[in-house]
Amino acid sequence: MIQTKGFAAYDATSDLKPYDFERRDVGANDVKIEILYCGICHSDLHHVKGEWGEILYPSVPGHEIVGRVVQVGAEVKKFKEGDMAGVGCFVDSCRHCHSCREGLEQYCENGFVATYGGQAKDGSAPTQGGYSNNIVVDEQYVLRVPMNMDLSRVAPLLCAGITTYSPIREWKIGEGHKVGIVGLGGLGHMAVKIAASKGADVTVLSTSPEKAKDAHELGAHNFANTRDKDTVKSMVNTFDFIINTVSAPHDYNMYMNMLKRDGTMILLGAPPAPAEIMAGNLLFKRRRLVGSLIGGIAETQEMLDYCATHNILSDVEVIPIDYVNEAYERMVKGDVKYRFVIDMASLK
Ligand code: NAP
Ligand code: ZN
Ligand code: ZN
Repeated sequence: MIQTKGFAAYDATSDLKPYDFERRDVGANDVKIEILYCGICHSDLHHVKGEWGEILYPSVPGHEIVGRVVQVGAEVKKFKEGDMAGVGCFVDSCRHCHSCREGLEQYCENGFVATYGGQAKDGSAPTQGGYSNNIVVDEQYVLRVPMNMDLSRVAPLLCAGITTYSPIREWKIGEGHKVGIVGLGGLGHMAVKIAASKGADVTVLSTSPEKAKDAHELGAHNFANTRDKDTVKSMVNTFDFIINTVSAPHDYNMYMNMLKRDGTMILLGAPPAPAEIMAGNLLFKRRRLVGSLIGGIAETQEMLDYCATHNILSDVEVIPIDYVNEAYERMVKGDVKYRFVIDMASLK
């Protein structure tokens, strides 16, 4: 077994603290990655606080992982020692269902193995995530990180990047579309960058007026303060698409109303409460409400290569690991510019 150091939640209410644990030995198809950076996703917080249901503690979160390959198994073909590699939200899946065969492992009909809080396929232990100094993953679930990229700014692409890239690709969002991005946080700022790079006309719909300048610098064409009633009224029937990344319970109907006839709102945010929609808001304008979950492995590789080509990186605040609890507090307040990323050199 491989001795590993990390930071874990021990229950739903206390601070994350150091945690020593073991990873499996490197199997024939595995790569061992020395983790250099790990992003902090709002899902990490939902998970460790038990907001999505009970979890097993101690739990090491983190699914925006980049690092260096330090060991490969005998059968590994894609990686060699010294390569830069990434791991996202899942580390395995059944590999034979309809979705897995189509490269949509995130929708695996038998359930994917989540990077943390999942059950390892051999049933040995719950999976532990990237707030740690190493990880062992089957090479099929590891991404190649283009060499010319700033690794701290690549880490968030493994979740925030792919989660926004996937629906933009699926719904062919681009030139000629007016797109609203709700929530300028980790996912939101990546949605702005990617949608703008595809030629869409992008409006940030935010509750934080002080983010207006940043929104423009990130590539948005417009900014709207959704706390202002007149602004909200002026945007009724405006957008072809709305990408909703809000992490807290909120009024979905206000945003549905901003869609044109046949417009689509894509839910990415997963607040711990049901989404209540007035049927009339869908019926009268034939609007659509859809969801999207991260992305498959092939699509995640495509996204990384696309971001390398288009020079798209996350805007990050790099932190030492013992700042993680404060980072969580700031994330709940919407005070993130625009992703916290842990420098794993700080984990001693
Ligand atoms: P984040 O960085 O905390 O950003 C969320 C943003 O939502 C905040 O910055 C804030 O932006 C806005 N917001 C917060 N509370 C709000 C409220 N009450 N009303 C309106 N807006 C509010 O979070 P994230 O990491 O981007 O994640 C966002 C959500 O997506 C989380 O629920 C996460 O679990 C989920 N997620 C889903 C997937 C998927 O596959 N679908 C993948 C990753 C994450 P403003 O200050 O601009 O208003
Ligand atoms: Zn995430
Ligand atoms: Zn499957």
